[in-house]
Amino acid sequence: MPVKITFPHAGEYYVVFKDLMTNLGFEVVVPPPTSQRTLDLGVKYAPAQACLPFKITLGNLIEGIEKGADVVGMIGGKTGICRLAYYSEMYQKILADNGYSVDLLAVKVKKEFWDNLKKHQPELTFRQFIKTIRSFWRKLILFELIREKSLELRPYEVKKGDCTRIKRSFLQELEQTTDLSALKALRHKIIKGFASIPIDENRKVIKIGLVGEFFLLIDQFSTMNMEEFLGNNGILLKYSLSFSEFFIGSLKQKRFLDKYLPTHNHKVYQFAKEYITRPIGGHGRETIGEAVVFRQKGYDGVIHLYPFSCMPEVVAGSITSKVSVDWQIPILSICMDEHTGQAGFQTRLEAFTDMIKRKKFMPPQNENDIVHLEVSQ
Ligand code: SF4
Repeated sequence: MPVKITFPHAGEYYVVFKDLMTNLGFEVVVPPPTSQRTLDLGVKYAPAQACLPFKITLGNLIEGIEKGADVVGMIGGKTGICRLAYYSEMYQKILADNGYSVDLLAVKVKKEFWDNLKKHQPELTFRQFIKTIRSFWRKLILFELIREKSLELRPYEVKKGDCTRIKRSFLQELEQTTDLSALKALRHKIIKGFASIPIDENRKVIKIGLVGEFFLLIDQFSTMNMEEFLGNNGILLKYSLSFSEFFIGSLKQKRFLDKYLPTHNHKVYQFAKEYITRPIGGHGRETIGEAVVFRQKGYDGVIHLYPFSCMPEVVAGSITSKVSVDWQIPILSICMDEHTGQAGFQTRLEAFTDMIKRKKFMPPQNENDIVHLEVSQ
């Protein structure tokens, strides 16, 4: 009987993880889309001070186990400076204490992943494994292309909802496509599909970079689907991080290259160095460096999202006001937790982006009009 596995929903990324696990021989139990119930379960079982991503992912796992999963998959674990290093042990302990007896599979860019995998899938050959990883990677890149295109075009679309509609249909197609050559063809189809959306090129749009804690940058539930809210209000968004970058960034070789070669991350760390001299866990250092990179690329502002009690991002959040002044770019830092309400959150986003629009599209009244807004809840 195939082993049943579940994993955190992680926004729409579940599409590619579902495929990965299926090709590795598991029967996949996709947890229901993250909802208030998911969060309530996480809040109920997690320690009160645990970060929001832990609570949401724990809720996802419990919902997956309720649907019959006997293994839970998670990203990373046991390494790093922040609480992510304790996630796997905490999941296991909390789940066992509450009567959910499951095994854990840590998905890592390390040999350990293969070793763990073999315990659950003894029949799997290394050749099959490599083939699966290659197909997973292609899907992941296509997934991120769909996501990026929708963010780029949404603020310009003539008919509201076109980008969302086409994004959903491509995600569905991506979910159903397994053949490598069909995936290649799908790439062209995605580019053509988005290019066919009628847009108003003369629309006054502002560009905002998104930095902060990784999970908040990939999970629409945690940020109350702000990408659609902002996109529909004439804001082009760009995330500073994606899953593919997260995976590549965890390779030792990549870290070595970033240290000595002029890669994107090298630039990010150089900018961050003035404020943070060493890694502080999570993506705290990247938050600072990426905010400066967005400024260099001509973005009009930066939104920094961080979970309540997230040490790396709290540190970064205490520096963003200085970065804002030094680099003359508005930065809005927003702390999210289970008590964050949609109306209040959207009001803050609206106030911030309206201010930037006014400054950009109306004659300037004060040349030194640099704004930093810090919101904590
Ligand atoms: S980066 Fe912050 S929110 Fe994410 S796992 Fe680490 S402590 Fe938690």
